[in-house]
Amino acid sequence: MKDIHQVLRTHWGFDGFRPLQEPIVRDILAGRDTLALLPTGAGKSLCFQVPAVAMGGTSIVISPLIALMRDQVLHARGRGITAAAVTSAMSRREIDNTLEDAALGRFTLLYIAPERIGTELFRARLPRMPVKQIVVDEAHCISQWGFDFRPSYRRIPELRVHFPNVPVLALTATATPDVVEDIQEQLGFRAHHVRRAPFARPELTFWVARGEDKHGRLLRIAQRTTGSGIIYVRERRSTHRTADLLEHHDITSGTYHAGLSHEERDRAQAEWMAGRVRFMVATNAFGMGIDKGDVRVVVHLAPPDDIESYYQEAGRAGRDGKSAHAILLVDDQDAGRVRDRVRAAFPDLSQVRRVYQAFADMHRIAIGTGALEAYPLDLRALAERSGEHAATVMHALKALELDGTIALSDGARSPSRIRILASPATIHALRVNDARNGPLMETLLRLYGGLHEGPVIVEEERIARTVGRPLDEVLAVLREWHRQELIDHVPRNDAPLVTLLVPRRDAAIMMLDRKALADRERRASTRAEAMITYFGPSVDCREQQLLTYFGEQSPGACGRCDRCQKRQRDTTSPLHERDIDVERWAIDQGEHPA
Ligand code: ADP
Ligand code: MG
Repeated sequence: MKDIHQVLRTHWGFDGFRPLQEPIVRDILAGRDTLALLPTGAGKSLCFQVPAVAMGGTSIVISPLIALMRDQVLHARGRGITAAAVTSAMSRREIDNTLEDAALGRFTLLYIAPERIGTELFRARLPRMPVKQIVVDEAHCISQWGFDFRPSYRRIPELRVHFPNVPVLALTATATPDVVEDIQEQLGFRAHHVRRAPFARPELTFWVARGEDKHGRLLRIAQRTTGSGIIYVRERRSTHRTADLLEHHDITSGTYHAGLSHEERDRAQAEWMAGRVRFMVATNAFGMGIDKGDVRVVVHLAPPDDIESYYQEAGRAGRDGKSAHAILLVDDQDAGRVRDRVRAAFPDLSQVRRVYQAFADMHRIAIGTGALEAYPLDLRALAERSGEHAATVMHALKALELDGTIALSDGARSPSRIRILASPATIHALRVNDARNGPLMETLLRLYGGLHEGPVIVEEERIARTVGRPLDEVLAVLREWHRQELIDHVPRNDAPLVTLLVPRRDAAIMMLDRKALADRERRASTRAEAMITYFGPSVDCREQQLLTYFGEQSPGACGRCDRCQKRQRDTTSPLHERDIDVERWAIDQGEHPA
């Protein structure tokens, strides 16, 4: 076994561990199942990467986000650690090859998406892998009680059957006490064991401001804040409207949402990170993996659906430890809106069937086929085709996921690739004999060289334009050739992916597990009510309310939030003034960090 401080220095060049990292590393080396509850940015990755290197063998890391997996693999390789990922964004053959390498013990870190665990390819190789550690990133996803339940996480315990003595390290930034228990139960911890960093953020002031004219109030906050900030809105189009308003008042701002291209998102993020624009107006798509210390304010123009999401987003302020504000703007309709959204999140069976049918039609998946294939998800196109709202489409897909029919995952930024597998003779025959698709093959060979030698990056739009056929037709032919193993075609996928876990069913007779859906609706509603209570008027102290929600004993009222400030004014002011200019106060605090 290698010395962990030596590992830290050689591979990372870091001088020492951050708080809790070393005890967690030692727990794993001692073979203890451990749940690590550390805030975002605390350095959770190191907690499993250091033991992975120190112990040798292979550490399997389960993660829900393909984009993050790819980043981590690149980072690890950059530090001289062998690593690979197996995701739905890869072709069957790429997956097969990577898993074979893993079975030969070639990777210190093997990242997998949870839906992979149930597949034959994986199960066949698993017993041969020299597994020394099982890591579950974003471990709250395994709990139905949590805000981000992913049914495919339920397959993780199957790994333990093969490696009963291998320690499990579960990592998360947010979990209520119920969820903390549930994670350990679900993962089959041999003994319960939690390492937890304090939730309290003494540098953050939580503030709820109630009233109409949210944009006017936002503007005053922005004008009076020095440094940078994030403004969260609920809808993509509001990002642009709000940013225009700020720009109109000479406050520089960028926009970020999942509907923008990767290039636009990268540019916006880079400008904001570099401080060239002060505010980022974004949907909740923004923030993953963002590590910016000097965010002075996070403003929500409307409440999220649960406290977990709010705390994660608001917590991006004040990472440098200096005073910062988390301000939530609400009006009298917000509680109703939150409740409406929860109701809308549970569509009825006929809607689910329509969405499933439309999805199968779009991708030309015949009944009884398509199992374990990943298909890109174009929410807008699917909404149009099914005649449902985009939000309903998303919720219908979630219902299908809950039912075990599909798995949803984010896309990874990878361009389309094609490699020709068939012999030159077969390809030649296709070119001369296939009147319909011969010209397509012809075009492919003319546009790109080296297709026989290895995967070549291609652009399907360009192929379609050149050959003069509609894009979806071209894609269908490429998919068919791929199925026939004439070519290996890995479509570009920056779009989220839908993986069929069971062969396509007949939508007309498809049923759903009603009880599971009803349970889930009840829990979503409980979480929504907790959020509504948080921003309501009956709370004593906002910070205390949050800490209690996450099961942490708070040392008393914070003295900084809007409720505490109001109480102090009420008792000290002889006039008992009710109309405190709360924003002015919050903003002044922001301008003069304590
Ligand atoms: P988390 O998963 O908890 O959100 P990460 O593992 O992504 O956090 O780490 C956040 C950042 O902290 C990374 O840039 C990482 O390199 C850095 N970091 C982690 N541990 C240390 C350490 N001991 N010393 C210096 N930097 C560290
Ligand atoms: Mg992480």
